[in-house]
Amino acid sequence: MTMRIAIAGGGLGGLTLARILHLHGIDAVVYEREAGRTARSQGGMLDLHPESGQQALADAGLDARFRSEARPEGEEHRILDPAGRTLVHHLPDPGSFSGRPEIDRTVLRAMLLDSLPSGTVIWQHRLAAVTPQPGGGFTLTFDGGQRAECDVLIGADGARSAVRPLLTDVTPSPVSTVVELTIGEAGRRHPELVELVGAGNFWAMGENRILSAQRLGNDTLKVGISLRAVDRPLDSYRDRRVLLDLFDGWSPRLTALIDAGDNPTPRRIEVMPTGTRWTHRPHLTLIGDAAHLMPPVGEGANQAMLDAAELAARFAATPTNPNQAIRGYEEAMFTRIHPIAEMSARIQEMMLSPTAAADIVRFFTPRAPEPSPAD
Ligand SMILES: Cc1cc2nc3c(=O)[nH]c(=O)nc-3n(C[C@H](O)[C@H](O)[C@H](O)COP(=O)(O)OP(=O)(O)OC[C@H]3O[C@@H](n4cnc5c(N)ncnc54)[C@H](O)[C@@H]3O)c2cc1C
Repeated sequence: MTMRIAIAGGGLGGLTLARILHLHGIDAVVYEREAGRTARSQGGMLDLHPESGQQALADAGLDARFRSEARPEGEEHRILDPAGRTLVHHLPDPGSFSGRPEIDRTVLRAMLLDSLPSGTVIWQHRLAAVTPQPGGGFTLTFDGGQRAECDVLIGADGARSAVRPLLTDVTPSPVSTVVELTIGEAGRRHPELVELVGAGNFWAMGENRILSAQRLGNDTLKVGISLRAVDRPLDSYRDRRVLLDLFDGWSPRLTALIDAGDNPTPRRIEVMPTGTRWTHRPHLTLIGDAAHLMPPVGEGANQAMLDAAELAARFAATPTNPNQAIRGYEEAMFTRIHPIAEMSARIQEMMLSPTAAADIVRFFTPRAPEPSPAD
């Protein structure tokens, strides 16, 4: 009898896993809570790193499509101070594809969805409960009461995973608040803001706060406000005046991004403790944010996709022994993630510190050589 693999969550991790399993001739079903592929805006751009996100796409046979969709020019980044002075301006080498090219999240997710046989993703199925069966395997219960059975369950259901509590009782804790705003048709409506932001990432760094923006491929500017996690109702950040007050005294050239941004959407960013691990439990594991929720400083999606690639490769190597595959994957993943989670926590702390601008300039500025004693 073939093993029935269920993946909870059709984000970047879950879809990459289903795709690579499919390439190895292993079927899996993805249960996704959203109603369809366009149900929700997928957010801004990601830069995919050669050793993680890009490696996973190569394993998924999608590197050619990635190269045609990615935007190396999106690697440009600008860092300014609250007065609008440029502190750092990095321009990627023209025509180079060697670094960490950016791709719009929506494009990346569509690429993965297109690569799966139809019927792999079952939409509008939010996993609500998991009941282990006495003889092995699980019964899955979804919102609305539908049920399904599986032999192996992979939780790829993100920050608030419904599968995670079966393996560990850690709960994520808040680390920052992010408010996102959108400026559509930016080239036509706000050419001055397009000019300010440039082709890639833009950050204006103040004391304990960051105003950032990204230019997406579809002429949208995604604006982000990052703040320390404060005990204030999230909904209060939907009010533009509250947002503008936070940036009182900043150059109007910068706060114009808040004036022009539509639909302020606040959310708390949570993290799991670094070094989280669990005792292996048969036929069950986690990948991506469900396994290791880290501050959003550029690793989460990359590591989610690499988790998927590594787990799929282990299933393919030991097709009749899923527990050997899961154990091997978990041990390697815990070891890989620990230093990355620690580094992400340090960067997060630095970005929202009172001395963020000076710290970040030091971070990006190559050290001058030490003077020799003869000088
Ligand atoms: C503001 C911000 C910026 C970021 N920037 C970057 C970046 O530049 N680079 C980077 O590498 N990472 C970045 N990240 C992190 C990255 O978004 C995540 O690490 C990545 O999306 C994790 O992938 P995943 O597949 O594990 O989870 P997700 O992408 O969250 O996917 C989980 C999926 O599961 C579904 N789901 C949830 N619960 C259920 C349920 N109960 N039943 C069924 N389905 C469910 C969700 O609808 C979703 O589709 C950023 C994160 C944030 C918040």
